[in-house]
Amino acid sequence: GKRQGVTICKGHKNYELMLNLQLGIRHSVGRPAPSKSLKLKPTAFDTEQKLWTRFPPEGSKHTPPHQSCEFKWKDYCPLVFKTLRKLFNVDPADYMLSICGNDALRELSSPGKSGSFFYLTHDDKYMIKTMKKSEVKVLKRMLPAYYEHVNTFENTLVTKFFGLHCVKLSGPIQKKVRFVIMGNLLCTEVPIHRRYDLKGSTHGRITDKPETEIDANTTLKDLDLKFIFRLQKDWFEEFCSQVNKDCDFLEQERIMDYSLLVGISFQEHNRQAPEVNTEPDSTGTTPNLTTDVDSHVNLSKCTCLRLGINMPARVEFTVRSNDTQLVGEPTGQFGDVILFFGIIDILQDYDISKKLEHAYKSFQYDSTSISAVDPRLYSKRFKDFIFRVFSDDS
Ligand code: ATP
Ligand code: CA
Ligand code: CA
Repeated sequence: GKRQGVTICKGHKNYELMLNLQLGIRHSVGRPAPSKSLKLKPTAFDTEQKLWTRFPPEGSKHTPPHQSCEFKWKDYCPLVFKTLRKLFNVDPADYMLSICGNDALRELSSPGKSGSFFYLTHDDKYMIKTMKKSEVKVLKRMLPAYYEHVNTFENTLVTKFFGLHCVKLSGPIQKKVRFVIMGNLLCTEVPIHRRYDLKGSTHGRITDKPETEIDANTTLKDLDLKFIFRLQKDWFEEFCSQVNKDCDFLEQERIMDYSLLVGISFQEHNRQAPEVNTEPDSTGTTPNLTTDVDSHVNLSKCTCLRLGINMPARVEFTVRSNDTQLVGEPTGQFGDVILFFGIIDILQDYDISKKLEHAYKSFQYDSTSISAVDPRLYSKRFKDFIFRVFSDDS
């Protein structure tokens, strides 16, 4: 399919920022010296050390000369992230090649409402998201618990974080750009035909795109969903157990506003099923499923099946009786799919701004329909919904 995003070439407004980011990461990945074990001393989480590395264009004792503007660079908890990368089986050389190789990054046209920018590495493996100061604060705060959680549950669905950095531009405006490097959940050989960002709330949870513009790169939402996902029984049980654990963790960290991101690859043989594709693509026809012969080949090549990655499943098509119904009625029509899913956007805590958002929106709308609610309610509503749109295949 069409590749997502715009390649950042010379002349792009964020070209220098990309160079800074690549220089910084190249500098960071080699250090500190690799830790032998996955056990971390509590001091590794100490984020108070104010270490800025200066990158003058002419180079310095520790930094190479470069073509970009002068900037400063900071790594947050480098040893923790290094250990996380090891835990997530990321090879340092591959990591560096993905992000800092000769190929440019691609900038996505703001997929979220928050104002963050998103970048994809040329090989689609990593997603880089710029962050608000408050999100950095949340990640720093939850890092020990996050580390413990992902270390304990290897099938966890929460976003994998690989690094947290800051670029400070020198000169009169000392602008800071903070960003996190995470795994791209939808990095796969098989074509993703549809993607859904699911929260379990209804207010505003429908795409604002006209139907003719919806394609594989459109992020669809709760009220756009016209399926129930049916997983094999043992995978479904694993799924429920893991969603419960992940939500408990997020609730304890007072996080809300997260989503389950689901990517769907339709398999070829459901093409002849009648009227299954209710969503025409940009050409007005059903989603293009012709490349799916490849997906079988690629899937059989893949040896490991992990929760949320390459999951063979069936979708049962549903119909809504009204516009605000969250889960439609099952129709008894099925399609074979491969699913990819995980929990994203986990750095919003229930702070004063979210409490205010809740307060003013609840004057106008049903307070249980809006996204901003207390973390306990959020997690409950999220699970209620997820356990209705996912079920076992029997
Ligand atoms: P908002 O707070 O308004 O929801 P945001 O700027 O915080 O927006 P996210 O919700 O984190 O943005 O992400 C926006 C979209 O980007 C998601 O719906 C999803 O399509 C894509 N996305 C985010 N994180 C990932 C990821 N790790 N892998 C793949 N896609 C992702
Ligand atoms: Ca979001
Ligand atoms: Ca967000």
